Amino acid sequence: MKVLTSGRPVARRDESAGHPVWCAGGHHCTFGRMPAGQHASIPEVWVTDLARLVATRYRDERGRDRVELRVVLKLDNDERSAEDQARLLLAGTYAGLRHVLVDGGGAEAPW
Ligand SMILES: [Zn+2]
Repeated sequence: MKVLTSGRPVARRDESAGHPVWCAGGHHCTFGRMPAGQHASIPEVWVTDLARLVATRYRDERGRDRVELRVVLKLDNDERSAEDQARLLLAGTYAGLRHVLVDGGGAEAPW
């Protein structure tokens, strides 16, 4: 696995301006500049043997945090197989989330 970016801003944010320490600022952050604006981190990108994973953290105007995870996976050329792969990705992602977040994971996180 190769980590392309850490998800942390390269320069320290001015927290007195209301940005959390992890906010990337600049064009990433729309807080206070757009309706429903939000703080946003630099995406953290992992290139793995199976797929590229991209995680971005957000904080909305009400202070609620969330993370968006994108999985970039090459699909099979056969349409039926591609559809099956996409559905398996959804089901597997759900099962992984449930295992880690609800069932406790059964192991310590690798970080
Ligand atoms: Zn911000």
